Amino acid sequence: MGAADLFLTSVGRRPDGLWAAPGRVTVIGEHTDHSDGFVLPIALAQRVVVAAGRRGDGQLVARSAQQPHEPYARALEQLAPGAAAGWSGYVAGVAWALREAGHDIGGVDIVVDSDVPVGAGLSSSAALECATALALNDLFGLGLGRMELAHLGRQAENEFVGVPCGILDQSASLLATERHALLLDTRSLAYEQIPFDPAAAGLALLLIDTRSRHALVDGRYAARQDACRRAAQVLGVPALRDATLDGVLRLGDPLLRRRARHVVTENARVTEAAGLLRRGAVHRIGPLLTASHASLRDDFEVTVPELDVAVEVALASGAHGARMVGGGFGGCVLVLVDAQAAPSVAAAVAAAFARRGFRRPLPLHAVPSGGAARIR
Ligand code: ADP
Ligand code: MG
Repeated sequence: MGAADLFLTSVGRRPDGLWAAPGRVTVIGEHTDHSDGFVLPIALAQRVVVAAGRRGDGQLVARSAQQPHEPYARALEQLAPGAAAGWSGYVAGVAWALREAGHDIGGVDIVVDSDVPVGAGLSSSAALECATALALNDLFGLGLGRMELAHLGRQAENEFVGVPCGILDQSASLLATERHALLLDTRSLAYEQIPFDPAAAGLALLLIDTRSRHALVDGRYAARQDACRRAAQVLGVPALRDATLDGVLRLGDPLLRRRARHVVTENARVTEAAGLLRRGAVHRIGPLLTASHASLRDDFEVTVPELDVAVEVALASGAHGARMVGGGFGGCVLVLVDAQAAPSVAAAVAAAFARRGFRRPLPLHAVPSGGAARIR
């Protein structure tokens, strides 16, 4: 139906405006952000759309087309961590973070619609936060910059929802531009728009959601981050971003050595990929994607059979490169492939999954798209 129509039918008037914020996928630079490293995400064409309109009674009223049975209503001044469970926490959290920072927002109706797959590692949560933040920023004339909005979105997710994510997802959703990847230094937050237009090079980015979601992964993520912190400590550097490969290879503990080697080599791959893209050599990033996957599988040990099989089969079917994306233990793989070969690669992965009794994978098209914007 769309956010605008749903707003009209559920709120009974037209919204004051529509704002959209995209999901994102990291082309390369996985598990580098918690070591102050580099990441190279793109914004997707899949996005969350928020229709919003001011209301005079100081209430936040929110609905989502994807959660039709869970409408939310609460007085703004009663918002506090714990005041919204489930999906509405991402919306209420942004309103709360803005008020915490002293910004004067009033009552508002918010209606959400989205085509970003939820829980696939494509950051539907950040897209929801960023669309909400941009809507409130515009509706109440707050004049905040995009990096400020990214921080507020992250604060909502960290402190209100209680998910300890970094700033990467919100930055990508708010700062990315069409036909570019965003090279982000997660320490300084300096960023550069890197030209990236696979279609113009006859290529496509196939995103395959393996639909495997492994439970109880929080402890494993924490263990990975902890290993990186300990490795940095042993090496006497503030974070692994500052370590050299020679230093890492001399680490005595084999587990720390492997974990740290992933981070250091992955940072180098990000820099190399950005260099290739600056020169327009899009297909040449393929081997870097594949090397990233091997490193995530062998050194960081965050892959699962579904991810490894999808990558293996994609490569055997002629892809230029492929790797798991996101935190690991399930989710999506990203495949760089000749545009005309994308359907056959997707079919080969689906057939291999069927033979192994895995769930049917869901293919998506990843197109480097623009960041969050007001669309009406
Ligand atoms: P990801 O960000 O990888 O998609 P998360 O678990 O971080 O996965 O965020 C998913 C959560 O975000 C959903 O469980 C839901 O609470 C919320 N969410 C995302 N999109 C929507 C939507 N369109 N409507 C309502 N809630 C949404
Ligand atoms: Mg998320």
